[in-house]
Amino acid sequence: MSEAPQEEVLTALERVLGDRVVRSPAREGGSLATVSPTSAEEIELVAKTAARYSVALHAQGAGTGPETGVAAEGSILLRFDLMRGLRMPERGEPWVDAGPGASWLELDDNLSVSGLGLAVYPTSAPRATVGGWLAQDGLGVGSFEYGWLHDNVLSADVVLPGGERLTVKGDELRSVVRPESGEGIVVGARLRTRSADDLPYALEFPQAEEMVRAAEDIFGLPLWHLGLLNAEMAKARSLGDGHLLFGAYPRERSSEIEDSLRGVASSHGGRILSPADAYRAWGERFFPVAPSHPTPVVTDRLLAPLDGVGEALEKLSARAVQGTVARSSEVLLLALDANDDGRTP
Ligand SMILES: Cc1cc2nc3c(=O)[nH]c(=O)nc-3n(C[C@H](O)[C@H](O)[C@H](O)COP(=O)(O)OP(=O)(O)OC[C@H]3O[C@@H](n4cnc5c(N)ncnc54)[C@H](O)[C@@H]3O)c2cc1C
Repeated sequence: MSEAPQEEVLTALERVLGDRVVRSPAREGGSLATVSPTSAEEIELVAKTAARYSVALHAQGAGTGPETGVAAEGSILLRFDLMRGLRMPERGEPWVDAGPGASWLELDDNLSVSGLGLAVYPTSAPRATVGGWLAQDGLGVGSFEYGWLHDNVLSADVVLPGGERLTVKGDELRSVVRPESGEGIVVGARLRTRSADDLPYALEFPQAEEMVRAAEDIFGLPLWHLGLLNAEMAKARSLGDGHLLFGAYPRERSSEIEDSLRGVASSHGGRILSPADAYRAWGERFFPVAPSHPTPVVTDRLLAPLDGVGEALEKLSARAVQGTVARSSEVLLLALDANDDGRTP
């Protein structure tokens, strides 16, 4: 694009958004500007203006995703820091409405004041944004009971290139937001909530294969979350030398769960950790993501069936790996390069 249309699109946006359009310092083949809208209506307007001048938009979340994506030359970056609003549930509604820039932890913390929580959230929750995870989809904390993120998005508002705004269901998101499909921009979402009064648990095993077999054995239990850590990841979190299964379940289900967990641990040569250690393992579920630390890099993200996790862990054996088990028996494995922030071994 020649200089004149670039200048025109930026001037048109500045007329409406003022200093919320920040021009990129030098044109070195990068983006034209960063724009920070405050509402879905403003995003519609930005999309219409960009389409008029054939300029691409690139949505930016917190940058924790493996496919954060590089903005095309001459595109305009959209940031959602000014769209972190949420509307708390009223009269027992089982959902919360959130803006695309809200962090998952911020949302869950706000719900916890009323004894509620999100049905699922990613382990990158202290940083990852609502829009960023919706655009990627995934399994997270709570997926053992509630499944994939898209199963827990009751609806999402999306602005398409050109400025049309749609409301879609969770399972339709993929067809409108992925780069290979619509490249729509998530401007708001209605997310499933649950009542949250949970007890954490943790089981430790000397061998990875035993940990995986134990996970298969506890599959029938009504847990809310089931996660796993290889020994390298457990060490990085200062949780001992073994391989860990950990998670949480609603307190009201404890009578059906506690003894079964203890039985499964001992039948696979492992042990159940004390409540204090289980709370510690639970408290480390976001490791190494923290608001004040640099974003860690996911070096491998793979989906394996539960009975294939042993093999996958062997391949990744020298790395710190965490897994999230879904009720479909799919496991999302993330190998992390967290050395950047000095918190890993
Ligand atoms: C330590 C760690 C733990 C993680 N844990 C999990 C996990 O438990 N489960 C899981 O599935 N993933 C996990 N991930 C991967 C990643 O965090 C998630 O995919 C995450 O939610 C991405 O959110 P983000 O705000 O960082 O998005 P970004 O990385 O900034 O962006 C991701 C993609 O979304 C697009 N995007 C951003 N905002 C919008 C918007 N409003 N509308 C449309 N597109 C948009 C971007 O253009 C990009 O293509 C983890 C990553 C790390 C580093």
